[in-house]
Amino acid sequence: MKKSAIFSLVVLLTLFFAACKKSDTQVVTPETEASNSDKVLSYILGLGFPATSIVEHPTEYIVEGDISFPKNMTVPEGGVKAEQYYTGSLVSAANVTNIRLKIDASMTSMTSEINSAIAQWNGVANCSINWTVVTGTSYDVLITDANLGSGVCGAGTFPSSGRAGNLIRINKAYIAGNSFAQRARTICHEMGHNVSFRHTNWASIGESSATAVPGVGGTDASSIMNGGQCGSGATVLSTKDKQAAVALYP
Ligand SMILES: [Zn+2]
Repeated sequence: MKKSAIFSLVVLLTLFFAACKKSDTQVVTPETEASNSDKVLSYILGLGFPATSIVEHPTEYIVEGDISFPKNMTVPEGGVKAEQYYTGSLVSAANVTNIRLKIDASMTSMTSEINSAIAQWNGVANCSINWTVVTGTSYDVLITDANLGSGVCGAGTFPSSGRAGNLIRINKAYIAGNSFAQRARTICHEMGHNVSFRHTNWASIGESSATAVPGVGGTDASSIMNGGQCGSGATVLSTKDKQAAVALYP
């Protein structure tokens, strides 16, 4: 083989391996995404939710029937800080005073229920939580209709990176037969998840741990944040719900 032919072969082989390396690099991307969903799963388990309460879907984990953890979510740094209970990850003081809620066209028929739920959160004295309805393209939380199957009234999303959870889904057809107060309760309850509230009755529904809101622990049969009470639960924020809201967002 001539020297020039060998040189050409070396160049070709170099290009070939460079090409292989490039395709290897491209293969890495899905692995990175998979590892984020693993991180999300670890985060959920770290919050004390038992594995049995976690249902995997293509793009999210649904926990305790109505709490969504998107697989691409940003997992809060610093791990889990271990009554009225919350995730340990709050909406920032700057963001909580103006949580912009966009009502998707699919949910406008329940605008009155949404406004009732907003009035409950905004009406807590000495609490900085303030929801506003916006109609533009810029918003923090979208509330939309979604078929979540039988037995599930709605699904909220916990905050991350100092922002309220960005999605509330309401199983509109499923709750349509409930009273106005119960329909508003479902919305008010999911809004609570989006500002970090967990289920007040977490212990009785199998969670291993939750972070108690300072000074507001214990059970509360009147809490709107009790889980598994779709269509039958409390319809107004209880005294302790309000104390917890003030404690987390003074
Ligand atoms: Zn819930």
